[in-house]
Parts: sequence; C-alpha cells; structure tokens
Amino acid sequence: MFPLLSHLTPAHPFHGYGWDEGFAESFVDCAEGDQSLTPARIVRVDRGRCEVVVPDGAGVRTVRADVAPVATGDPLAIMCTGDFAAVDLGQGCVRALLPRRTAFVRSTSSKRSEGQILAANVDQAVIAVSLAAELDLGRIERFLALAWESGAQPQVVLTKSDLVPDPHALSHLVSDAETVAPGVQVLPVSAATGDGVDVLAAQLVSGTSVLLGQSGAGKSTLANALLGEAVQDVQATRDADGKGRHTTTTRDLLPLPWGGVLIDTPGLRGVGLWDAEEGLSQVFSEVEALAETCRFHDCAHQGEPGCAVLAAVADGSLPERRLDSYRKLMRENQRLAARTDARLRAEIRRDWKQKQALGRHMMERKGRGR
Ligand code: GDP
Ligand code: ZN
Repeated sequence: MFPLLSHLTPAHPFHGYGWDEGFAESFVDCAEGDQSLTPARIVRVDRGRCEVVVPDGAGVRTVRADVAPVATGDPLAIMCTGDFAAVDLGQGCVRALLPRRTAFVRSTSSKRSEGQILAANVDQAVIAVSLAAELDLGRIERFLALAWESGAQPQVVLTKSDLVPDPHALSHLVSDAETVAPGVQVLPVSAATGDGVDVLAAQLVSGTSVLLGQSGAGKSTLANALLGEAVQDVQATRDADGKGRHTTTTRDLLPLPWGGVLIDTPGLRGVGLWDAEEGLSQVFSEVEALAETCRFHDCAHQGEPGCAVLAAVADGSLPERRLDSYRKLMRENQRLAARTDARLRAEIRRDWKQKQALGRHMMERKGRGR
C-alpha cells in the first residue's frame, strides 16, 4: 500500500540517517497516501533552499529542494538540520515536516523573533569539556541544562585526556565532573591518542548526536576522529548504489562510520544562552529531591526550620558550590526566559507526545489484526 516505505527495511542505508519505525509512522500519517511524497532528512538549510537525503532504490541520494512556504510568525514551521520531512521530488520542494522528537531552540531577547530552532531530532548531546584548562563545573552544568531542555540525553566527554597522563589525577577529574552530572556518563577521550574515542563511537551508534561545548573544547577534532579520515569517503560508501554521488558542499548532518548520525551546525557550535528551566531541574535533580523533603513547601533554603537542603550542606553531603550554582543558574534563567520560547518548546513536546500516543494506538490495532 505504501511502496515507498515497504522496501525501507532496517538494513536500508536510510536507517543510517536516523530513520526508524516511529518516523515511518509519522510519514504515513503525514503523507495520507499521497504517492508523490518521499521521506527525507534535512542535512542542511541554506537561504530558502535545503539539502535532503532521500532513499533511492537500494541506496540514498542527496537532492536540493525548495523550502515549503510557511505561515510567517510560526517558528515551529521553520525547518532545520535534522528534521524529517515529506518531499515532493517532482516539484523539488519540501511539503511537510514530520513531528519533532527533540529540538534545540535558541532563546532570543528580541521581542519579534520567537526563538530559533538550531537542530531537530537529536537523541544524544555530547558535551565536550577540555582537560587543558581547569574544569569549570558551572559551565558543564549550563551545557547539561541546555541538553536536557532539548529532550536529548546528555553525555560529558572530557577531551584532550592525553594532557592528564596521571591516571589518578584523571579519575579525580572524572569524579569532579560526575558530581555535577547526575544521571550522565562522563568519559575521558583523546582525539590525539584515540583513547576513549572507540567507546564514544560505540555509544553513538544508534540515533542522532550533536557535539556541544565551548570554542576550543576540541569538538571539531573529535568530530573528525569519529567520522574517520575522509568525510567524503564516508558519504560515498553510504551511497549504497555504488555511484558514490556525494556532494562537495559541507553538510551539517553526517552518518558515522560505525552507525549513528552526527549533526554539526554553526548555530549549535555557538550556542550559549538559553531558557532551560526544566533542563536545570534535571541537572540539579539531587537538590530538587532534597527540597521536596524540606518541612515547608515553599522553602527558599535560606534558614527556614526543617530545611533539608541546608542540612545536607551542613553535613557535607551536598557541596555548597552546588547549591550556589543552582541558585545562580535559576536566577539567570529567569532573567533570560523568553516566554515565547518556553511555549515553543512545550509545543514541540506536546506534538511528539501526541504522536507517540497515536503510534501506540496504531500498533495496538495492528497487533489485533484489526
Ligand atoms: P573546537 O573549537 O571545540 O572545535 O576545538 P578544536 O577541535 O578546534 O580544538 C581546539 C584545540 O585543541 C586545537 O588546537 C586542537 O589541536 C587541540 N586538541 C583537540 N583535541 C585534542 C586532543 O585530544 N589532545 C590534545 N593535546 N589537543 C587537542
Ligand atoms: Zn529548604
């Protein structure tokens, strides 16, 4: 009934671009039987045009397409790298975007602009922190908040581990980073020696990843190490039709040689300020868990009786630095929070949750054989 999808078995190269059953269902809902539509993933957006990868026989190919005209003022409708879409190859244009699972949204201070989507459908956010300088735990917390807020699972990599040859010193640094990253793995890596790069590559084999971090943290070097020697070669081998039709322009989304997809956009590289209240709650989950047990519901942890947070600081189980950082980032976030962006993110989550609920419903119906 849907010949375009029936051949997209899990072994099809399009899966190497993050395509999975969930998106296949979204596509079917979205296309409503329109045979002129093909599923696609956006690998680059450039001044009103975009590059997409589409399944092509037993392989994939890259085509350029026009961006579908969208109602102005709806930032959700603006496509970005990582989006899955339904494209009309005959007309050479993107017709619709599939619901997003996750999104990195840049908060903007401008009243007119309602935030900018930097990347969509990212499953894992790898936060690169350089070991060449003293660990800035506050900065790690900021990037963690940004990652959680997007819906992606964060992971911290301590880069340039070759600069810390003493294993004891290294494990201390890993522990330090772990104290600010509950629920997050911390992995030392060195692009120079290759240490840890294989472990990281193995963790990124499924889904879509991004590299976040300060300029100079070693993101580009690590991306090259993950991608292997020649990015173009990677692209060519992914073209399973054997014609090796690769483009010469740089792409913002690349399949990794061992599996998985890496998104690297200029916008994400520079991302810094954000509105990430939910993300902050996850970064400071242990502080918020303690706060739940304070005697007063609205405890401000400023010396109220029965304050579990201050008690934990007093007995040393919660580092004071951590509480200070929590307060500081919460305050900063409240100053920055552009309400429109919060609404935008909430909308993305709701869309996807509805989509998931619908998907489950369809699966159940299928299971019962209708
Ligand atoms: P980006 O700005 O985050 O993309 O950082 P780069 O990848 O450009 O790296 C910044 C600097 O760190 C460069 O001078 C790299 O040569 C250096 N660098 C990157 N990875 C490593 C590493 O694993 N070990 C060492 N010693 N230096 C590294
Ligand atoms: Zn309290």
